[in-house]
Amino acid sequence: MIPLVNLTKQYANLKNEIDAAIAAVIAESAFIGTPANRFVAKFERDFAAFIGTKHAIGVANGTDAIEIALKALSIGAGDEVIVPALSWISTSEAVSNCGATPIFVDIHPQYYTMDPTKLERAITPKTKGIIPVHLYGLPAPMDEIIAIAKKHKLFVIEDCAQAHGAKYKDRNIGTFGDMATFSFFPGKNLGAYGDAGGIVTNEKILADTARLILNHGQRAKHEHLIEGRNSRLDGIQAAILSVKLPYLTEANQKRRTHAKKYDELLQGHGFDLQTVPYKTEPVYHLYAIQSDTRDTIIGRLKEHGIESAIHYPTPLPLLPAYASHGYRKGDFPVAERVTSRILSLPMFPELTDADIELIAATVISAKP
Ligand SMILES: *Cc1c(COP(=O)(O)O)cnc(C)c1O
Repeated sequence: MIPLVNLTKQYANLKNEIDAAIAAVIAESAFIGTPANRFVAKFERDFAAFIGTKHAIGVANGTDAIEIALKALSIGAGDEVIVPALSWISTSEAVSNCGATPIFVDIHPQYYTMDPTKLERAITPKTKGIIPVHLYGLPAPMDEIIAIAKKHKLFVIEDCAQAHGAKYKDRNIGTFGDMATFSFFPGKNLGAYGDAGGIVTNEKILADTARLILNHGQRAKHEHLIEGRNSRLDGIQAAILSVKLPYLTEANQKRRTHAKKYDELLQGHGFDLQTVPYKTEPVYHLYAIQSDTRDTIIGRLKEHGIESAIHYPTPLPLLPAYASHGYRKGDFPVAERVTSRILSLPMFPELTDADIELIAATVISAKP
């Protein structure tokens, strides 16, 4: 049996350190992420240093991270924010939950990230910002996106939920936008043992505002400057993330090695493989191929005890959740074609060469 992601193996390798970190939090009852929580403060310092931003702010999950970043940038009713047509729903959901409207842009056929050549025509007088997603761990074309944002005076929030540690032109993703958001959902490249998320930024005012929002608008205890919400990062999750962060670079390198092996084994067999478009260091949160016979491959993999998954089966704007927006089939031709053919194969650092050989051979054997 080869799962899509194996978190048990990862825990086995780090068990002593993780168990000690959890015990330390419990010994101090440092459960809740108040400003006094030293475990949360430590992870925030470590993560800011890792990404290379002045500030990192722990929050409860990656969806809240986007929503709080939007609110810190004063996005609300009447505003439009541009998002890619292919992502996890959080990217657009966060925009709607601020009272603003997500405007979808089609993706690039090989890189799967927002197509910058289609971006400008989505801009209207109501547009306030752009949320590029570094999907599957491949950085979006930030030079083009930032240039368009500057020209039209739009903010940029990078959705880095699938790309912890990825680099675009030698610079860490998360350092290009006004703010950037991360998910530490267990299966992400850097994952907690429950829901967790983070925001990074170089702007002190944005960091301070995000901190207010995530803790009921409190500047100090019972001093509520605004209405916020509860979206604090737990002490236990922060301590676990601090243990795992030093291993992230090596784990990402293993993912790249695995992707290269998949590429070598699968190329020449008629599949569309992930391509790396420009000087960039992807982190392969997912390894996805495209095939006209996806369903046959899924069936054959299942027969051999190999898990696979579809990320994602429907472009965001064509989901029932956005029916009222009036998009129709054919509006996002690239995302529609990709979602009908895309397939994620098992990808995690602890995969072995033998696993990858078996998976690739099984995929190839399913060809008609
Ligand atoms: C996982 C994910 C999120 C949301 O993260 P949660 O922590 O699950 O809320 C947002 N955007 C993308 C692209 C994701 O993959």
